[in-house]
Amino acid sequence: AKCPANYVPLTPLTFIKRASKVYSNRISVVYAGVRFTWRQTYQRCCRLASSLRSLNIVKNDVVSVLAPNVPALYEMHFAVPMAGAVLNAINTRLDAKNIATILHHSEAKVFFIDYQYVPLASEALRLLVAELEHTAAGQYAMPLVIVIDDIDKPTGVRLGKLEYEQLIHHGNPRYVGEEIENEWDSIALNYTSGTTSAPKGVVYSHRGAFLSTMSLIQGWEMSTEPVYLWSLPMFHCNGWTFTWGVAARGGTNVCIRNTSASEMYDAISRHNVTHMCCAPIVFNILLEAKPQERRELTSKVNILTGGAPPPPALLEKMEKLGFSVMHAYGLTEATGPALVCEWQTKWNQLPQDQQAKLKSRQGVGILTLSDVDVKIKETMESVPRDGKTMGEIVLRGSSIMKGYLKDEKETAKAFHKGWFFTGDVGVIHSDGYLEIKDRSKDVIISGGENISSVELESVLFRHPSILEAAVVAMPHPRWGESPCAFVVLKMAAEDVTKEEILVYCQKNMPKFMVPKKVEFLKEFPKTGTGKVQKVELRKMAASYQIS
Ligand code: ADP
Repeated sequence: AKCPANYVPLTPLTFIKRASKVYSNRISVVYAGVRFTWRQTYQRCCRLASSLRSLNIVKNDVVSVLAPNVPALYEMHFAVPMAGAVLNAINTRLDAKNIATILHHSEAKVFFIDYQYVPLASEALRLLVAELEHTAAGQYAMPLVIVIDDIDKPTGVRLGKLEYEQLIHHGNPRYVGEEIENEWDSIALNYTSGTTSAPKGVVYSHRGAFLSTMSLIQGWEMSTEPVYLWSLPMFHCNGWTFTWGVAARGGTNVCIRNTSASEMYDAISRHNVTHMCCAPIVFNILLEAKPQERRELTSKVNILTGGAPPPPALLEKMEKLGFSVMHAYGLTEATGPALVCEWQTKWNQLPQDQQAKLKSRQGVGILTLSDVDVKIKETMESVPRDGKTMGEIVLRGSSIMKGYLKDEKETAKAFHKGWFFTGDVGVIHSDGYLEIKDRSKDVIISGGENISSVELESVLFRHPSILEAAVVAMPHPRWGESPCAFVVLKMAAEDVTKEEILVYCQKNMPKFMVPKKVEFLKEFPKTGTGKVQKVELRKMAASYQIS
């Protein structure tokens, strides 16, 4: 169809152009002793984009980067697509083998490496060279390597000849970027962490990224001039789109290298942070901080949490500490958050524990998603709004990925009649709010009864001695499967016994849900994004003899 003359493709790149004009002298990025304004950040992006073009980067080329939340990674979120290329921010917790696989699969042309990750990246590159020996000549050449040295305190660490600041220095500040012809053009490539299957390359469009960003700043009610702390890795779904979102609001990006309790509290008090995102696991870091690491919160800090179910007990504790938590649910394929638990004023009157329970629900579709539902896959029928009947959560709209890179088969499998199937099992409550009960692979089916591991875990989390809990299915001769609970105790609670935990379960949940076994672990096996690897726990549970 022909577009009207005023058609302009939707892209988050407009946010930074606008920020450079509207918020030109406002602080855009703070990192250690370094400060930039929006005008400077925009100019640095223009320079970097033009340098990438001089390095023969053309439309649709993949530019990979391995870096913590430093200014360079932030700038690349604009500069790389300005050059017409696709940004691939790699999870820094992956091992060399996985990184090599991603570079190869994405056919990365350039590989930016933060100095801190030079050893890991070198090993990945070594594995890649070995891998390429077995592929036909001319198919894929090694990426050009560019080190990102520390911008505050340069270390001199190098791998190859090029360094990031050189590219900025030699770039053209008047370069305005390639024209985006089509809003469906690719902007970013993010690999899934592979909690339940092999990593897949999820491709985002300019349009999808724009829409997602818009609805998240709206859903979280982020007004202008936020001070945003980068506690969530930018490599995680482009920081749940807030890389682009902070520019849209003319906010300040507070960049930190590590997310230790002291570094987070220090940044919060020093810069008067107003917003941050994190997985529920980070709550433990903030809550368990030693008194000397802690700082008083002088004003309200808004937290957006997601990535794993936040147990209500944990939400309640965070609110008591002075954080205002909003809950979102999403996945890599949905360009980050797809549901937010929009708060309703009438809930303010409820007691705190009930509020926490409502907040622990995953919520309603973000504004720019066209629809969300819970369906039975076989019949495509929606489940009733009874808060009980389980089905699969399905999403529909342009902020869902374009597809998996070079994998038509998996892409076709993920969609059914235009709906994206999330693989998460949930229910719809009478007020239309969705609640996740499990990942379809994690549901425990015991004697024909569906047991939600999430529900069981949230009861365990209420126990004062439990730091982390994960429940998986264990084979059972009579019931087929039965729940097996793995628990990590808090440091001060090491005299608690398994029997005590079992008695606690018997008191606090229906009989059929009570775990048949409780095991203590020192720590949980985790994926690159910090999620518990239930596959590993299931293997352990399978080895236990139950009579
Ligand atoms: P991976 O699937 O490899 O873990 P993702 O980061 O895409 O990588 O994880 C998405 C999954 O995380 C969802 O499918 C869901 O199971 C889980 N998840 C995300 N947010 C929430 C939430 N708020 N509550 C419960 N589970 C969540």
